[in-house]
Amino acid sequence: MGCCKCEEHEWPDPQDVVYTDEADGKEYCVFHAPGDKKIVDVETFNKKVFKRIEDAPHSSSKELWCNLSGTIFPGKIDFGKSRIFRYFPNCNFSGTSFCDDASFKFCVFEHSALFSNSLFFGDAEFNSTHIHGICLFSEAIFFEKADFFRAHFYSNVLFSKTTFHGMTIFTFAVFDKGVHYTFSCFNYTSDFNLAKFMEASDFEKANFYETISFKGSKFAKEINFKNTKFINGADFNKADFFSKASFSQAVFSGTINFLEINAGIDSLLLHQIDSFSLSNIIFTSIEVDYILFSGCYTWPDKLYTEATNSQDYYASEKMYRKLKRIAASEHDQPMVSMWHFREKEMALKQIKEKRPKWWRFSWLWLYRFSSGYGEDYRCAFRILMWLLLAAFAISSLIAIISTGFSPRIDWDKVGWVFESTLRCIPLTKLPTENGNLGVWYYAFISVFQLLIGIQAALFAFALRNKFRR
Ligand SMILES: [Zn+2]
Repeated sequence: MGCCKCEEHEWPDPQDVVYTDEADGKEYCVFHAPGDKKIVDVETFNKKVFKRIEDAPHSSSKELWCNLSGTIFPGKIDFGKSRIFRYFPNCNFSGTSFCDDASFKFCVFEHSALFSNSLFFGDAEFNSTHIHGICLFSEAIFFEKADFFRAHFYSNVLFSKTTFHGMTIFTFAVFDKGVHYTFSCFNYTSDFNLAKFMEASDFEKANFYETISFKGSKFAKEINFKNTKFINGADFNKADFFSKASFSQAVFSGTINFLEINAGIDSLLLHQIDSFSLSNIIFTSIEVDYILFSGCYTWPDKLYTEATNSQDYYASEKMYRKLKRIAASEHDQPMVSMWHFREKEMALKQIKEKRPKWWRFSWLWLYRFSSGYGEDYRCAFRILMWLLLAAFAISSLIAIISTGFSPRIDWDKVGWVFESTLRCIPLTKLPTENGNLGVWYYAFISVFQLLIGIQAALFAFALRNKFRR
């Protein structure tokens, strides 16, 4: 029998047993014994670890890797403190537990570094750490701060299913090859400001529960945010997207800032985004060109710029106009209709701002009132019916005034009222009015013929828009 963990982690050199668990009879070496059963103090233990790393050959052969997998580090450890341990051989830290702060500040891993399934109970410092080989942090858990400020990863990196409970810092980090954060959970604020992703990278199904910032980050190749959840907002302000970025079915529960991003035309794919998420995206007429909305079937009534930045109606008008143009180029007529309505609404709000008392005396208001800017055929039909009713009411009034009120129904007069109403409709062929009603009657007929004619045209126009779209 020897150390059960040395056996489990396939250490090539099983270590001497220092502790036996009386409950199950399992034996442990100094590296694998629980923190309080190591029989040595933290300093002596750390020296043993440093010695093991120092003695390991700098070889790429897997059998010669420095195996520290499953080790329990009982106290603070600083690998970067001494220059001797600055340059690491291939190291396997998989399944290790760091019970206190662990610092790899300024360390250089000349080869690979494996930290899969590791537990960092204290702060994890990888500040300015350089890792030249494959780097694995899959399924690791960081309970406190994870600091990768200015870290440089020269090869592929895996942070899949990694959990970050504390603050996560990847500011100025450089990923020369692909990095994968699939299924990772960021439970506290995360900072990827000015990070550089030089190859295709992946955040698919990652969950950001607190604010996340990619301000000024550079995405040189494709970046995947499919099904990623941004629960408390994300900031992509001034980020550079040199290739495609996919946000398919992403969830934006907080605001997503795309202002001043640099990207190619249609390079940010926002596919199947729900209405609530769409209402949280911050962009202007400039960024519209970079974003391709597809399969977004339900939209909020107002986009973020209009809903929150209520003073700048001109900016919103420009944004809606551009969205309308894009929708028209894609022959997406229902969206053309929607953006057209919002665009005109913004123009009307600007009139209201300039003329708070007289804004209703504008052609635009009349256009909205009579037909919802040519988009609402129901409204246009309603107004048309009201005009006919008004013509009927006025004709009735004329009939009553000209002959006086009588409780007996005069069917001739009733017939005349209907005839008079019909005269208000343009192009109706009726015999000339023989009565002597004067110029006002003919003025009334002419005005109503004009109004009803225009309104009928607006109704036809709105109806055509409805069925064409
Ligand atoms: Zn052991």
